[in-house]
Amino acid sequence: MFTQTDTKKVYFFGNNEADGNQELRNTIGGKGANLATMTQLGVPVPPGFTIATSECAEYYTNNEELSDILLQEIKTNLAKVETVLGKSFGNNENPLLFSVRSGARISMPGMMDTILNLGLNDQAVEGLSKKSGSPRFAWDSYRRFIQMFGNVVLEVEHAAFEKCLEVKKQQKGVEEDTELSVDDLKELVADYKTILAENNTSFPQDPFEQLKMSVGAVFRSWNANRAIKYRQINKIPHEWGTAVNVQAMVFGNLGETSGTGVAFTRNPSTGENVFYGEYLINAQGEDVVAGIRTPQPIVTLQEAMPDIYGELEAIYQKLELHFREMQDMEFTIEEKTLYILQTRTGKRTAAAAVKIAVDMEAEGLISKQEALLRVDANQIDQLLHPMIDPKANPTVLAKGLPASPGAAVGKIILSADDAEAAKKNGEKVILVREETSPEDIGGMDAAEGILTARGGMTSHAAVVARGMGKCCVAGCKELRIDEAAKTISFGDKTYKENDTITLNGTSGEVLEGEVALIKPELSGDFDTLMQWADENRKVKVRTNADTPHDSKVARDFGAEGIGLCRTEHMFFEGDRIQAVREMILADNLEGRQKALAKIEPIQQSDFEGIFEEMEGLPVTVRLLDPPLHEFLPTDDISISAIAKELQVSTEHLKAKINSLHEFNPMLGHRGCRLAITYPEIYEMQVRAIIKAAIAVKRKGKVVLPEIMIPLVSVFNELATLKARLVTVIDDLIQENGVVLAYQIGTMIETPRAALLADEIAKEAQFFSFGTNDLTQMTFGVSRDDSGMFLPEYVEKRILKDDPFQVLDTHGVGQLIEWAVEKGRSQRSDIKIGVCGEHGGEPQSVTFCCNQGFDYVSCSPYRVPVARLAAAQAYLKSK
Ligand code: PEP
Ligand code: MG
Repeated sequence: MFTQTDTKKVYFFGNNEADGNQELRNTIGGKGANLATMTQLGVPVPPGFTIATSECAEYYTNNEELSDILLQEIKTNLAKVETVLGKSFGNNENPLLFSVRSGARISMPGMMDTILNLGLNDQAVEGLSKKSGSPRFAWDSYRRFIQMFGNVVLEVEHAAFEKCLEVKKQQKGVEEDTELSVDDLKELVADYKTILAENNTSFPQDPFEQLKMSVGAVFRSWNANRAIKYRQINKIPHEWGTAVNVQAMVFGNLGETSGTGVAFTRNPSTGENVFYGEYLINAQGEDVVAGIRTPQPIVTLQEAMPDIYGELEAIYQKLELHFREMQDMEFTIEEKTLYILQTRTGKRTAAAAVKIAVDMEAEGLISKQEALLRVDANQIDQLLHPMIDPKANPTVLAKGLPASPGAAVGKIILSADDAEAAKKNGEKVILVREETSPEDIGGMDAAEGILTARGGMTSHAAVVARGMGKCCVAGCKELRIDEAAKTISFGDKTYKENDTITLNGTSGEVLEGEVALIKPELSGDFDTLMQWADENRKVKVRTNADTPHDSKVARDFGAEGIGLCRTEHMFFEGDRIQAVREMILADNLEGRQKALAKIEPIQQSDFEGIFEEMEGLPVTVRLLDPPLHEFLPTDDISISAIAKELQVSTEHLKAKINSLHEFNPMLGHRGCRLAITYPEIYEMQVRAIIKAAIAVKRKGKVVLPEIMIPLVSVFNELATLKARLVTVIDDLIQENGVVLAYQIGTMIETPRAALLADEIAKEAQFFSFGTNDLTQMTFGVSRDDSGMFLPEYVEKRILKDDPFQVLDTHGVGQLIEWAVEKGRSQRSDIKIGVCGEHGGEPQSVTFCCNQGFDYVSCSPYRVPVARLAAAQAYLKSK
């Protein structure tokens, strides 16, 4: 299940020396590798050691126990930390305390467990009390430790401790934890122990036992539901396992000269090159992340602690220069001494990713190629996400922090589970919470946007939403949530669950009702990056578009032609559907031709519009694909209305509908099979295409039509149809006395066509892989019904991805590889592309690039994604 790597199990860091280094991410996790690197760079990092990721696997194979060899290595490394700090673990006079944290190869913020203040017990708390001169601090640390250990390690419900704390505060008549006295805290410690006893467990007094159990708990948290879900959403392999970082504690809660914070070397929302972050005085790290207190912006630290601020600035510059990447750092100030607890590549919005990549190239930190590889191609999609229409005049209900940009409209939903359920019912929701926790990850993923009452820019909600590219307004103080009544209110305005609101994550505003949204303008940096992508890719990027408007949008996004113009909508629209139905109802060829003659000029003008927009670029027009019954009504009311329009009896129309009924329409009388029966349909379509091409050409524009025949699986289907169509086309060209180059090709979307691609290539100038149908027919899974069970396949890890979203390179990919090879063996210059949904999905684009495709084709808004993915595939292949 897991990957085994190294024999060394534990890696020390401290005193400017470290066993690990930056290259060892896979062995000691991202956090461990960076702690080692920072230590080597001379950054003040509390000493500690990292237990290798491979030990996570060992733990599971060893019946959830740490092996003796591992325990021995832990002891050796504990001794090294003791030497650096001049303190010893388990010493009650001057106790050495540790934090125990997870650390996978890729950071999974908040998904796994952490234990702080480890090493305290009934004696050590007294020692800490004396040593720190603050009994309150010591006892507060102890009660926090028992609470955390009780919950995370001994698996007693968090709520039990929280309730006990609440009761204590009520008894003592105080509002805040900080108002509890030393005696109150001592009572709490006793009460917590009682809770543990009631749960048939107890708190171990031996610090080494505490450590052993905590390391095990962190390994177990790798397999907690939320962590599994996070890995599924972020496509992180389950077999990687987590490392465990054991690090000497430093305290941000030792009074007014202590504090803790999170800082980014650049603004993670906008990408602006400014030091950015927030902190809390007299607090521990989890207070910032949990969003329980709303922190101060980092600039104010410059005034509060100018020396620390200066030191922090120097460190962030050093780290960014070293990693040549935007860093997200956690720091603690213990009585005016600064410590960096971790650094990692900072998560950022798509807009920030683009700006940072382009800026860093200009600053000489990275090359253009590196800049291209720095932006996640999937994330680019966010940039094309909606914004509030500037013409709208919305009512602002409240303002919170602009935690993640973009805008979203949806129904108010108060729990993550309900958000997931509503999404399944096709509803758009805004998840509204006091604050979010890692438990809410599924609901956050399902929501259009997230609104929280508490927490800062680095709270869980903000960090996760930015990573997901979702709009988020956090820390909205005016927001009151009444869980019992299922309402939320802002001042005197109250809204029920399921009422609609709008969020503006760019400004932090919460807006009344449904506000109009628009697509955003793309920045100059975006164009720069896209230009670099174009200079660094081989494969062309075309679009799937079937109207002049979509063609224009796609061209503006950089499409280099149309790879799939589906012509079915040209039969559906109001001014032609009646003629289409007349054609279907006609009893003979003459009747069908009469009806088709009405449709032809309308289709011609559709094609003219598209050819004009795509002037100079190839346009692949696919001839009619769906089965004819799709054009007929299904319900009784429509049937009688349409019968009237067509001047036929209802019975006659019903009889026709019945005669066209199919049990498996997707495997039925569609695509080229229709044209074998009714060749006049395709003949009409090619006349419309060629006449349109001639008309546009006569305007002095270059037209490059490519005619594509769908759903071919038999050589004779293609050969027969092609022969008929070529006659029609050549006659037309001759009649008009023009020179017009055109191509005829086919889709490869049935497994048989892929298997016999060499035969098919005899008659096809190009292949376009219809990976939607090819996936459907290879798996034998209906693309229309797969939604009912494929998500479960992914959840249960039967499949890594939904093959209708991410190309199944392992299976369907083999057919593609085979067909490409066979096709080229027959016709060496055959043009090869893809036009299924996979054409805009980065992993699938990479596969197509590696197969030497000429183009990929995708929906207009995915064109930039495909451009970047194609460049990344090319750069990685070099
Ligand atoms: C395909 O099957 O991949 C394809 C592009 O055609 P359609 O989705 O229209 O069936
Ligand atoms: Mg298809």
